[in-house]
Amino acid sequence: MTEGKYLRWKDEQGNDFRPVSLTGTALLNDRTLNKSTAFTYEEREAFELDGLLPPRVQTFEDQLNRVYAGFTHLDIDIEKYQYLRALQDRNETLFYALLSRHVDEMMPIIYTPTVGKACQQFSHRYQKARGLYITEDNVNQIPELSRHFQGKDIRIIVVTDSQGILGIGDQGVGGMGIPIGKLSLYTLGAGIHPAHCLPIALDVGTDNADLLNDPMYLGVPRRRMQGEEYHQFIERFVTQVRRCFPQAVLQWEDFSKSNAFDNLTKYQQVLPSFNDDIQGTGAVTLAGILAAMRTKDASLKDQLIAIYGAGAGGVGIADQVYAGLLKEGCDQASAKARIFVLDSQGVIFDDRDNLDAYKQRFAQPASLRDEWGSGLKVSLDELLDKQRITILIGASGVGGAFKASHVSAMMKHTSRPVIMPLSNPTANCEALPQDLYDWSDGQAIVATGSPFGAVIYQDTQYRIGQGNNVFIFPGVGLAAIVAKLPTIGLDIFTTSAYALAECVSEEDIAKGCVFPPVNELRQVSLHVARKILEDVCVKHPDCNICAVNIEEHLEEHMWEPVYLPYRRV
Ligand code: NAD
Repeated sequence: MTEGKYLRWKDEQGNDFRPVSLTGTALLNDRTLNKSTAFTYEEREAFELDGLLPPRVQTFEDQLNRVYAGFTHLDIDIEKYQYLRALQDRNETLFYALLSRHVDEMMPIIYTPTVGKACQQFSHRYQKARGLYITEDNVNQIPELSRHFQGKDIRIIVVTDSQGILGIGDQGVGGMGIPIGKLSLYTLGAGIHPAHCLPIALDVGTDNADLLNDPMYLGVPRRRMQGEEYHQFIERFVTQVRRCFPQAVLQWEDFSKSNAFDNLTKYQQVLPSFNDDIQGTGAVTLAGILAAMRTKDASLKDQLIAIYGAGAGGVGIADQVYAGLLKEGCDQASAKARIFVLDSQGVIFDDRDNLDAYKQRFAQPASLRDEWGSGLKVSLDELLDKQRITILIGASGVGGAFKASHVSAMMKHTSRPVIMPLSNPTANCEALPQDLYDWSDGQAIVATGSPFGAVIYQDTQYRIGQGNNVFIFPGVGLAAIVAKLPTIGLDIFTTSAYALAECVSEEDIAKGCVFPPVNELRQVSLHVARKILEDVCVKHPDCNICAVNIEEHLEEHMWEPVYLPYRRV
């Protein structure tokens, strides 16, 4: 008997099956094993299910039609979310098969934007246990806690302290919706088996007064840990995770920006970990820029880039654009000179008082501002006047910040400006795609963070590419698990960006669309993971991956949501 495809076995004749020891209600209550009405008559007899299910056996197809009909009957997104989460909690195979068939329709329900509402309403809509809740009382007992739950072969953890949930800030314990949703995307995108995924909420308190005053609030009713108390808590958490889940990759998610940078800097060499808000955003944006260069038939090293917003996303984008410029042949000084980062006080220069550490590496010399003859604060308007900016990225959360005048200013230097208003949700987007097309006579190359419908310009329809981090993190996670990477560095994300850019079809490139459709997620994740592993092999020719066919090896690790015949053990 051999094991392959993660939790799939083959007998001597090569038939797939799954050995199962649970019976009766225990089997029906196991969400990774439950087949519900699709248990065959033989399985019902073998696994003591007779009488526990309605008599008629359904096919997988029948079940999919039934649950999809239930989904489409609902009108309100948060109810659709609740419906899908309930399905996930009773039958994960059916849940992921349904999701795989309706990626476009269901991704905005299980993740942004609907998951934001689910986090806000977490305590009022709580249904069923999933994941680990770590508090000051149990942070030293993670090994004991992990004995309380079923799947112990954890390969990927998404953890949040819920302070910077999407665009809605501190959600206390309700932030648990984010790790749950992100891990669903790991399984959907890269086939990481649900039993290998662990969502964790660090309940370090909340400063959200509405939550603290709500008698239904399910988290620890205290103000947030700060300073040394917080850092010691994170240190204890990381120590315990390394001890308890030595094979796991850890993704930091939705921390406040200063904690996000601090935790990443402190722990990225300690365990295989990354921050998607910083590094995933950087990689997906670089990919869009690289694809835009194909559209324009231009080179990245000739561009000047303005990044509007200097938080986790903006600085992560600057990091990756800088890495891309170096890869394209720029030296460090000229790469840095091509990137202008702005925050709420304008372009960042190196003589600003109390400049956050994470912003310092992209501060321009104050002497440049003197050359321009500008005052202390240099706005986006002034920057576009002084520099021949060809790429403008929005990561500020300021809706409508990009104006027609900005587009006109860019078009003095480039016939095809690249403009990516990435802020979410739609109301926070720096400019609407239709406006950008209209203001630029259809010449702007546009991508957004939120999903937008097609734009119609002069009777032609243009699909708007979505710079969704989901194109990056599942492939990175899969590669890190398969190659057992000890750390996940900046170079991994640069490789992912180039890999994603390769996934944009020539047809899309010709029409100025710089991201693949989201329903190609699985192929994209496989390609991203393959490119990372090829890089690992170049750098470590004696690694265990070199000897195998990388694509086949990755596919072996990608779970597919299908029912296997069960054999009792
Ligand atoms: P953040 O809070 O860490 O950073 C926001 C930054 O914007 C801060 O530096 C702030 O100073 C700056 N800012 C605020 N007002 C400004 C103004 N008027 N002018 C210039 N800068 C201003 O947030 P974040 O995590 O970096 O996310 C920012 C936005 O980017 C959010 O809307 C988020 O949804 C979006 N985002 C999109 C993607 C994606 O599309 N793939 C990924 C990550 C974040």
